[in-house]
Amino acid sequence: MPPIRLPFRGRRTDFPPDLWTRCPSCQEMLFNKQLEKALRVCPNCGHHFRLAARRRLELLLDGGSFRERDAGLQSVDPLGFADSKPYPDRLAAAQLATGEREAAIWGTGSIEGRPVAICAMDFGFIGGSMGAVVGEKVTRAAEAALAERLPLIVVSASGGARMQEGTFSLMQLAKTMAALERLRAGRVPYISVMTDPTTGGVFASFAAVGDVNLAEPNALIGFAGARVSGGTIAEELPPGFQRAEFLLQHGFVDRIVPRPELRDEIVRLLEYLVPPRPAEASAEVAAVAPGFRPLSFLNALAGRPVETGGDGRSARPAAEAPATVPTPTMPAVPATTGLGLRPAHREAGSPPAEAAEAPKAGEKPEARQFETQTAEAETGAAVGARRPAEGARRG
Ligand SMILES: [Zn+2]
Repeated sequence: MPPIRLPFRGRRTDFPPDLWTRCPSCQEMLFNKQLEKALRVCPNCGHHFRLAARRRLELLLDGGSFRERDAGLQSVDPLGFADSKPYPDRLAAAQLATGEREAAIWGTGSIEGRPVAICAMDFGFIGGSMGAVVGEKVTRAAEAALAERLPLIVVSASGGARMQEGTFSLMQLAKTMAALERLRAGRVPYISVMTDPTTGGVFASFAAVGDVNLAEPNALIGFAGARVSGGTIAEELPPGFQRAEFLLQHGFVDRIVPRPELRDEIVRLLEYLVPPRPAEASAEVAAVAPGFRPLSFLNALAGRPVETGGDGRSARPAAEAPATVPTPTMPAVPATTGLGLRPAHREAGSPPAEAAEAPKAGEKPEARQFETQTAEAETGAAVGARRPAEGARRG
């Protein structure tokens, strides 16, 4: 027997969600169409709703200027991971829900006629979590920005590393940072836009290290959750300590920009932050005084056993391995931009330009050979990034 349809609906206690959205901040009911028109900012209280990645790009870039790159990259399931459901099912559901292949989109476009490389994340895709593909896209965006001398903009919206890819996710932190470090050495500007939420491994890597760090009002920004952070230092944390405003007061964020003003703000910044032209770039880089570089710093610590003359092979610093990953995985990028770290011990003596541009120059041949071997054998980010291409070819 077919189910009986009631000829009348029960008293409506709520509005149909496809038409109305309740503002979680001021409880006002907002008409969806109006909310979209207002860039998903509550007209009543200014609450910033989350924004899908495509919409974000539309909002920031000149109309029709976006050229997506690496659209075919897709996550694989390197660990065969299943929680309440298998990881591939989760991916399929997220793809269906968002219409995107992954939690990040990157490409080139222009803002007020100025060309940029831009990467935007989508929180709707498994919490915007960073697996091998998201890390790879951020890295490729940074490498293209360096190769083509384009300012880089990354709009973050993420819960952090993707649990389902385990340690492969964690390696993205080092990989993205290595690419940004080379970008910094090449004096190409990088603007980080932190939106609600920017947490975990994304905050702990590329989101927090922009030349300018922008944030949307009241965005949740932090590493671990409030309870974990409080428990770790065994102290009561001040209210709102992970909100954009608090981070602005404490110097982590340079500016809080309401969404309707974000594009104009970036335009203004791009007027100040001009990447060097390829010709003048190499000369300028040579003149840069080596400042504090987190990666070189870690490298220096990790590299000590190698330099003291122990067995270089077994004592190879772990920090270096992820950075060599891009080499085998990136056929599209010229080999010179995809190479590994400069060894920290050369930094003091030789000019940074040489270190950044030609890592081959002073290196011991055995060391290089070993690096490529490890990159093939040990590092897993390669697995996540290489296979998607195959998947794309098949499907
Ligand atoms: Zn509101």
